[in-house]
Order: sequence, then C-alpha cells, then structure tokens
Amino acid sequence: MNINAAILWEQGAPLSVEAAELGAPRAGEVLVELKAAGVCHSDLHPARGDWPTRTPLVLGHEGAGVVREVGAGVRGVREGDHVVFCWAPPCGACPPCLEGRPVLCDRLERTTYRNRLPAGDTLLTARGQRLAHYNGTACFADFAVVAEEGVINVPADVPFEALATLGCAVVTGVGAVMNAARPEAGASVVVIGTGGVGLNVVQGARLAGCARIVALDTRAEPLRLAREFGATDAVEASGQNVTERVRELTDGRGADYVFDTVGAPATLAQALSYARKGGTVVVTGLSRLDALASFPLFSFVMQEKRLVGSLYGSGRPARDVHRLVELYREGRLKLAELSARTYALAEVNDALAALSGGEGARGIIRW
Ligand SMILES: [Zn+2]
Ligand SMILES: [Zn+2]
Repeated sequence: MNINAAILWEQGAPLSVEAAELGAPRAGEVLVELKAAGVCHSDLHPARGDWPTRTPLVLGHEGAGVVREVGAGVRGVREGDHVVFCWAPPCGACPPCLEGRPVLCDRLERTTYRNRLPAGDTLLTARGQRLAHYNGTACFADFAVVAEEGVINVPADVPFEALATLGCAVVTGVGAVMNAARPEAGASVVVIGTGGVGLNVVQGARLAGCARIVALDTRAEPLRLAREFGATDAVEASGQNVTERVRELTDGRGADYVFDTVGAPATLAQALSYARKGGTVVVTGLSRLDALASFPLFSFVMQEKRLVGSLYGSGRPARDVHRLVELYREGRLKLAELSARTYALAEVNDALAALSGGEGARGIIRW
C-alpha cells in the first residue's frame, strides 16, 4: 500500500516526509493505522547521528493506532483493536524471557536493535530503495507493520493522545520506580531531568508513596510540569549549590533513591553524590554509544551505594501497560498532560527541533 513516511536518508540531515510503499503483513505480523506517536530522544539520537545506524530508515517507535489487518496465525489482536506499540517484542523462549525479563530478550539484538522485523526483511521501500524499520516499529508513517508481540491491546475509550507515549516514556519512567527501584513508602527521591521519562519517574514515585520527590532540571517549564506531576520540590539544576540544596531537602543525608533520566557522564556523577549512604541510583537515560562515565570509586564502596541500569521499565511491558491504563482510568496517572504540543507528520522536524531545544514534555504527532 502507499503511505507517507518520515524517512531518514542520511544521519544529521532533516527527515523527509514522502511517499513510500508498505508491504502487507506476513505470518505473525499486524498492520496498524497510526493515530498518535510520541517524539522521543531515542528518535533524536539516530536522527542526529549520536547512535550510528544504517540508512535509509523510517523513524518512530512509540505510538498508538488501530489494527487494520492481521497476518496468518495472529491470535492476540483483531482488526479494529486499539493498540499501543511495544518496541521490544519478546520471543518468549530465550533465557531472559524464561526468567521473566522480556525487556532483555535475546532476539531484540537481531531485530529491534538492527531495525528489523522478527519475520525477516523490510516491508518498506521508497525511491526504489529498501528502508529499515526503526526499532522494528517505524511508526512515523500513516501505517506500520509490526510483529504481533509489538502491539499491546488497549481499551477503545482511551484517547489516542493519552496513549501516544504510554508504550515508551510512561512504561520506562513509571517502571523504573515500580520495578527497578521499588522504593518504600515515605522514601526520598531525586529525579534528574524532567523530560518525558523524568515526569513519569516523578508520577511513579508519587504512586509509590514517596514522601519527598525532588525534581532537578536546568529548564523552568519542565520544572513547573514536574510539580504538577507530583514533585514536592523543583530545583533549578544550573545553580552552584545543588548538592547542598538536595542535602537540605533530605534531612542532611542525601536521597534514598536517585533517578538519572539524562544518562550522561556528568549527571551520573551528580546522581551518585545526591544518594545517601546505602542509597540507590537508577539510570534510565541512554547516552551516546561512546560515552564513558567516571565517579569516585572509594566512597561508592565505603558508602555502599547501589547503581542500577533500567531499560524500558525493567518489567513486562504487555502486563505493565494494562496496569497503567487502569491507573489512568482511576484518575491516578497523568497521560494526556505529557503532550506539550501536537504536530502533523509533515512537521516532524519541528517536533525533533523542539525536543532538542528542551521545551519539556513530549511533542505528539497526530493523524
Ligand atoms: Zn521512546
Ligand atoms: Zn526472548
């Protein structure tokens, strides 16, 4: 079928929204008509060239839409179902899957992280060339074909704008709290960076009953949003005495849990300095591929700090999305508020520029 897709022909160049051809779903695949998609740092990194990747490539990996066709053998979804994408479709049979850690599925190294579909070669072409499916999703397009495990059923009464970031930023941020950190009620938390993931860490900490939730960012607007999402304190991180301020806010001890949603060498060192003795640092931010971090090793051991990497919420996305939808329906989880501005697909470069410029929250592409 003929579609419009946002194609990255060359890293560092703007995306080109143009006509492309999409093949029909094969066995185990589904065709989804896009309704809303989030514009995420994980789209910005390959677009800018922070993560080397083969081009041409159709970007986009978080979004929601309606199933329009299913391939042979598909049982989990039907035509007309509303779904959100899961960019880490698990195989269900490898050691991490069997250990209950589908986010670490071994198959992802041959599929999602190589911008391929599990069923094989690309279904996308333009200008006579084959296009890769970014993260096996490629949802900056009118339609996308993904693996059956790459979609999660959601109730039809939840607005698409609310669903746009559910399958990535929300799962990642709330899951980092609920699955990776598991803080005790009353715990103190520091969140570094209040973009799409950081705001969801803030609301995850609120849901977990954390007493003190300190949001740090260099930008005023994201800090204002962080308060709306449940931060008890919002601290401008460009100031000189941030470490002192964090200490003051945590009874002079440092925080029980620190979340680094930026994931840069500098923020990791700061995160460790904000954690109390015996405290835990959870890193969700994805750095450049060549980034190396350094931090004072002696005090790390002497103070028994813990450092944890957390990918895609460290849980089971298919299960967690259902729980998150329930929380949303109970009025306990903010979703629509994550969308700062909506764009047409043709304006995708403006959305990426806004993200790069740090406007805060997420830009959403709407069809
Ligand atoms: Zn994302
Ligand atoms: Zn697996």
